[in-house]
Amino acid sequence: MDALASPLLLAIGVGAVALATLGLVSRRYQRCPHCRRLVPRAHRGWLRCRTCGRQYHRSVHLGR
Ligand SMILES: [Zn+2]
Repeated sequence: MDALASPLLLAIGVGAVALATLGLVSRRYQRCPHCRRLVPRAHRGWLRCRTCGRQYHRSVHLGR
């Protein structure tokens, strides 16, 4: 293995893992529309936010 190729491959690997984790997190979690905390995704119906106690819907996406 080339001495320069190894850190590059490591960086690519770490980047791929970070991207996969981000994708998984955005699929399982969403932002509470009221307090902007990360909350479990409401796949159907409504869930209650544990932080502010208000209800949210799945239509509210991450980063909005
Ligand atoms: Zn909330």
